[in-house]
Amino acid sequence: MYAEVLIEYPTKKIDKYFTYIVPSFLINKIKRGMKVKVPFGSKEINGFVINIKDSYESEYELKEVIDIIDEELILNDELIELGNYIKEETLCPLIMAYQTMLPSSLKIKDDNTNYNFYKTYIILNKAKDEVEKYLSNYKKDNDQSKMLNDLLINDKVLKNNYSNYSINTLKNKGLIKEIKEQEYRINKSKNNTLVKNILNEEQKEAYDNIIKTKEHQVFLLEGITGSGKTEVYLNVIDEVLKEGKSAIMLVPEITLTMQIVNRFYEWFGDNVAIFHSGLSNGEKYDEYLKILRGDAKVVVGTRSAIFTPLKNIGVIIIDEEHSDIYKQENTPKYNAKDIAIKRGIYHNCPVILGSATPTLETKARAIKGVYQYLKLTKRAGESLLPSVKIIDMVEEIKKKNYIFSDELKEKMQSNLENKLQTIILLNRRGYSTTINCSKCGYTYKCPNCEITLTYHKSSDTLRCHYCGYTTKNANKCPNCGEDALNYLGLGTEKVEMEVKKLFPMAKVLRMDQDTTTKKGSHEKIIQSFKNREADILIGTQMISKGLDFPFVTLVGIINADTSLNIPDFRSNEKTFDLLYQASGRAGRSSYKGEVIIQTYNPDNYVLNCVKDNDFNRFYKYEMNNRRMLKYPPYYYLVSLKIISKDYNKALENATKVGNYLKNNLDKSSIILGPTTHNIFKLNNTYRFQIVIKYRFDQKLKNVLKELDEIYLNENNVNIDIDINPERI
Ligand code: ADP
Ligand code: ZN
Repeated sequence: MYAEVLIEYPTKKIDKYFTYIVPSFLINKIKRGMKVKVPFGSKEINGFVINIKDSYESEYELKEVIDIIDEELILNDELIELGNYIKEETLCPLIMAYQTMLPSSLKIKDDNTNYNFYKTYIILNKAKDEVEKYLSNYKKDNDQSKMLNDLLINDKVLKNNYSNYSINTLKNKGLIKEIKEQEYRINKSKNNTLVKNILNEEQKEAYDNIIKTKEHQVFLLEGITGSGKTEVYLNVIDEVLKEGKSAIMLVPEITLTMQIVNRFYEWFGDNVAIFHSGLSNGEKYDEYLKILRGDAKVVVGTRSAIFTPLKNIGVIIIDEEHSDIYKQENTPKYNAKDIAIKRGIYHNCPVILGSATPTLETKARAIKGVYQYLKLTKRAGESLLPSVKIIDMVEEIKKKNYIFSDELKEKMQSNLENKLQTIILLNRRGYSTTINCSKCGYTYKCPNCEITLTYHKSSDTLRCHYCGYTTKNANKCPNCGEDALNYLGLGTEKVEMEVKKLFPMAKVLRMDQDTTTKKGSHEKIIQSFKNREADILIGTQMISKGLDFPFVTLVGIINADTSLNIPDFRSNEKTFDLLYQASGRAGRSSYKGEVIIQTYNPDNYVLNCVKDNDFNRFYKYEMNNRRMLKYPPYYYLVSLKIISKDYNKALENATKVGNYLKNNLDKSSIILGPTTHNIFKLNNTYRFQIVIKYRFDQKLKNVLKELDEIYLNENNVNIDIDINPERI
């Protein structure tokens, strides 16, 4: 017997199968999709069995498979097939597709740690009547008699509850023995007294439409914030489980959506497995095992949870489908939405894309009827949509209001007096975003990326938000030595200081990347705010999503223009999403919500659509832009980056690639560039960019593959190809 093994060597250069002999002791065990250890050159290396064959002819002498790494861990046929799809669609090495499918704790490292988690129990080793007889003679009331009495009531008891002395004594008498049982680290039970909401008319209609669909179909569930989309998901999953099937729901980021996860636990208890990067390796291993063994049928997780080896899937849900996090930026550059649809076809089940502000691509498909369009237009509970006001900061600056307008200050003050909560959003972390010298004009820049450094006051450091470069603040200009540095631009740290100055009595929390580096810190901040231990929460886009705080009635958005000015074809869309989602945090209960948007462009169309809560108007406006500028959904995009440490090499090759594309692609495709990339220098490498816009181009895939091949053997230049990029 022979095994074709794909080895874990993530380079395209050796992305192929190698054949090994299956030794006799593995013949009955080895299966397609298993991880094995094989000899490779002078090393031992891990790989996946992709095929098993009875005969194989080779001119070389074959080596033997050394061992199986984990008998339970098998990539099933569906996932093996999916790997080929990812390789084909994203041009990645096949092995990287498979590595992405398994949580990192299951990627075998050198230590081959065994993550199985056991608890030790004590059980009776004699019949109950014998134990009762022993106890009646024993007569003492101590740890030993307590243990035996406990065991007369319970089948097993936890070893940790008793002293080692008692255990050894009773063991020697032959009365008890120890057993080890594997347990899952995360164990939640469902809430049996849960009172479920009765679906309103719109929810019911959406639910019915999904449930009655007996084959694969993609749905867009477009529902305003608080319209009860999650409630629809829960009911659909409940039904799917009743049919004996399983379900996956993806969320953008779990730490921010623990509120949703807790609702899943309430409904489905230990039938839920969760997946996200905040779990320990052991927890990930357990959650994965639950699914493999069929002990959990509902998976809630972030992007890579789309690969969980669930069998018999009955529905796949992508919540907040507009989130760019579903596209992986590193190789393999897959989009979880595409994978969801691919798996939906395989399992012949519905895929639900849910959002208040779906991507233009998704909404356009729903309008065309490619996806089935379901809408929730009203908030589900009592609450009303907030009122939104735009404030012109040009006028405020004249009054020396650099951060907060008069109106926002007044509203914050009155919220404090009424014991209501306020959220302040500013999508920039740090203290100030630029430091320059008023004497010589020097500006601090990252030596690796040539991007201005952000000042972080709490650590008194200057940091590059692209590569992580950090340096201590010298307080004097490093160029002319004068004490003349200006701290310009605004970050969350500065806003926090200003709030504390304006409202010394207020309790303030800040949530951004800098305050949430520790495990569990997100939840802590959210929980503390939810418990009303603070009056004001300041944060970046992290606080805009999914959170449901009933006592927040005011949301203030500082510098709403920040994201409008990013040079990207999606910047309008991202801005609308961010502001709309942030607004949705206000007034989620019986209190009416208010939103204040501070901007230097009060006439901006996007901001005015947010003000009117009018996603449809925004959609039409932006679709028009996209049509004129030939962007998605009217055209597809490919972004190519040509990267080198050597500036001339990068430029030279970018020109070569541009010409190659011009000579080989269909004439209807548009090739832009090469130009310098927005982040021209990153980590000491120079980056040029070419963008392809196309509608139909039969030749495209092959041309890209050829380019990829050519640059495989180039050592000093890399080409990075992103098909359907999230940003360019
Ligand atoms: P979304 O996911 O669309 O933002 P949720 O599903 O979180 O909305 O619902 C928002 C709030 O409305 C939640 O507090 C939820 O419990 C409540 N809710 C949802 N559906 C109903 C309903 N049919 N009746 C009463 N309350 C509901
Ligand atoms: Zn840098």
